Amino acid sequence: MKLFGLLALLLVASAFADDSSSSEEENEGLPLAEACDQEACSLPDCRCSSTNIPGGLNPRDVPQFVTVTFDDGVNVNNIITYRNILYNRLNSNGCPAGVTFFVSHEYTNYALINELYNQGFEIALHSISHRTPQTYWFEATKEVIKEEIADQKAQMAHFANIPPSAIKGVRMPFLQLAGNASFEIMSEYGLEYDCTWPTIAHTNPGLWPYTLDYASTQDCIIPPCPSASIPGVWVKPMVAWSDLNGVPCSMVDACFFIPDRENEEEWYKFILSNFERHYLGNRAPFGFYVHEAFLAANPAVNRALVRFMDLVNNLNDAFMVNAHEVVDWVKNPKPLNEYRSQGCRSFTPSICNPNNCGPLFSTHNQLAYYMQVCSACPSNYPWVGNPLGQ
Ligand SMILES: [Zn+2]
Repeated sequence: MKLFGLLALLLVASAFADDSSSSEEENEGLPLAEACDQEACSLPDCRCSSTNIPGGLNPRDVPQFVTVTFDDGVNVNNIITYRNILYNRLNSNGCPAGVTFFVSHEYTNYALINELYNQGFEIALHSISHRTPQTYWFEATKEVIKEEIADQKAQMAHFANIPPSAIKGVRMPFLQLAGNASFEIMSEYGLEYDCTWPTIAHTNPGLWPYTLDYASTQDCIIPPCPSASIPGVWVKPMVAWSDLNGVPCSMVDACFFIPDRENEEEWYKFILSNFERHYLGNRAPFGFYVHEAFLAANPAVNRALVRFMDLVNNLNDAFMVNAHEVVDWVKNPKPLNEYRSQGCRSFTPSICNPNNCGPLFSTHNQLAYYMQVCSACPSNYPWVGNPLGQ
């Protein structure tokens, strides 16, 4: 069933790809991206889409980055898992392990966002509304993305009391790209990288992050993908896993042919088999992309993930990092020895004196919401078009 779904998706994908490549007006005056010029496109600001290791390093000299990410709202329930399995982890070089949260606004507790930030984790954007249907995102114009993503940056900084400059990453809801629109908004509002775009064609060797100065050679799994030249914006590809039958999956909780959900040992082996494709290959960053609900519902999977993170934290050449640290490294690729001793990322802790707000009236669905914030309470429930709830 899922396999047929995937095949249908691929057919739809190719149909859309044919459709969009022919129409120039969709670029709205932006220059169409040209084939990448390896001479003109060089680090730190430009990189062609490629499975080549940045800096031409030998795989054994490359730090194997592991990016664990969680999507959607942060609340009093899922914070329990985050505290249990993520806090106080160190990599083998003594630096705190990183995790990235792609946060959507609805029902998010901003005092808890502040807590995650103060643990040294990365807070990234996943839209204000996260609304259905998925076609809303497929069709989203620049104006819509501005209100959902750029405004969310200001909203997050305001309510969680964290610096806007610390917010660098974007993942679109349902992994649904909107052509050039989201990347243009990222460029205009100082967002550094996108981690929405899956690849199933470049998994072994894996695709490394690259910029959109030139045309991407990445397969477009969930079109529309960008077609314009948008200099300096980074794509961190979601390199697909391979499930037990070899079917690709971008999110761990979306894999279909999986081990028994109660079998920790088999899950640990499943995670390792995917990790090894990267670690024993070109060391492209390895992603563990999941929703907390999947771990909460499957304690054996949760235990397997903890074992995997413990393993990574004990490897001398693998590092659990915030996703934006991968982009930092690609911009300036240092050999493993140099990376290990370069010192840890730093950030300025930010206090939160939590306010409990509500009931707050919502104009979009007439519901009453409650929210905890590090700012003064808003007058209305913040939403698309009124991100600060004024
Ligand atoms: Zn989501």
